[in-house]
Amino acid sequence: MLGRCAVCLIACAALSPAAQLYTWWIEACPPETARATGCKAGDPELGRWALEAWERESGGEITLKQSPNEEHARIRLHWANGESSLYGETEPMMVDGKRGANVYVLPSVAPGGDLLLRETIVYLTCLHETGHAFGLQHTRNFADIMYSFQYGGDIAAYFGRYRALLHTRADIAKHSGISDADRVAFRQAVK
Ligand SMILES: [Zn+2]
Repeated sequence: MLGRCAVCLIACAALSPAAQLYTWWIEACPPETARATGCKAGDPELGRWALEAWERESGGEITLKQSPNEEHARIRLHWANGESSLYGETEPMMVDGKRGANVYVLPSVAPGGDLLLRETIVYLTCLHETGHAFGLQHTRNFADIMYSFQYGGDIAAYFGRYRALLHTRADIAKHSGISDADRVAFRQAVK
């Protein structure tokens, strides 16, 4: 019986409502894009870590899959050159009948000589903007990744508290930067 139960559990899980599939595409950073935007070769990985952080925190509500092309990706992350907003922006759109977005992240932040602070800002911007792509709105809570600087707040402290968690770049993949309130809002938004 135990064996049959186990089989049932697996089958039932397979039949339960599927997690929302989000296909994604992230612009690469070859030399010409680096010259135009200030992106670095490792920045697409920061974007991927941001998406994977949302997937981890989703409690099974979403699944990510890399799209082989930009055209059919629900979430498209581009490197921008700073003519628009301070750190990034997101334009919602429909992709093949489903919610999607064009996400623009400015990689040309200049935090002095601290490379990990620069990586922090680019990563957290990717996280914030992709949060919008999943349907999240701004909050007034300084602890949240969806906090908006329009409510004031100390920008250096905001990025600095995440920077303080890092000893190496690889640590970014271990620290989501997503607060408890972000997690609750996210699971609701993608249901
Ligand atoms: Zn925002």
